[in-house]
Amino acid sequence: MRQQIVAGNWKMNNTLSEGSALVSSILEKITHPKGLVVIAPPLTNLLSVGVQLNGHEGFHLAAQNCHHETRGAYTGEVSASMIAEAGATFVILGHSERRQYFHETSEMLAAKVNQAISHSLRPVFCCGEPLEIREADKHALYVETQLREGLFHLDEASFRKVVIAYEPIWAIGTGRTASSGQAQEMHKTIRNLIADQYGAAVAEDTTILYGGSCNAQNAAELFGQPDVDGGLIGGASLKADDFATIVNSLS
Ligand code: PEP
Repeated sequence: MRQQIVAGNWKMNNTLSEGSALVSSILEKITHPKGLVVIAPPLTNLLSVGVQLNGHEGFHLAAQNCHHETRGAYTGEVSASMIAEAGATFVILGHSERRQYFHETSEMLAAKVNQAISHSLRPVFCCGEPLEIREADKHALYVETQLREGLFHLDEASFRKVVIAYEPIWAIGTGRTASSGQAQEMHKTIRNLIADQYGAAVAEDTTILYGGSCNAQNAAELFGQPDVDGGLIGGASLKADDFATIVNSLS
């Protein structure tokens, strides 16, 4: 069965003490989430947030990235096994900020996905087009290429571990959300691609999140779309009240 998920991507925000206060507040406000709640803090907070989430049903820990090799001389990097042993069960991969600022290629992302799965981490695989591609009406093909190059090498059992996050780049951190119609259209397109690759049953079971200026005001409408199974939340995940409202918007 398809899972509903709200994931909070803190990006490079929150020191240990700030993160601890935010998680305490989130746990006070969200007692019985309708779906899974995934928190992706910076690496320095991974262990401590994991300890705080322990025993809270429905709450999971995620890292925001992992390296594409198993181990070695990669100063400043962290492997999937390190993240898994620290308590994460999810890892965000292919976020547009990583693709853009850290030059992550589809080849690297495919290897990261393999690393994640072989260490029992569920990838939250981000895809989405820049504004000029949307304006040229080439967004469906652009996202299809991202999925084919980064994910569709997986066998069915591995693919079933993946969560997809459709995040149009023009909507991330800009306050310019995709309309619920635009989100539904792309989520349906993505589900159809999965059906062609893995069959209708797998497509039906795949969780596809929307990300891009999703907030307390628009979450319910976005999550009300038949192919939108929750959200990947950036800015609004840093405010406990807003994040709780978004989680409570799951239908
Ligand atoms: C994100 O970075 O994944 C994101 C969706 O950010 P925001 O919600 O701030 O647009």
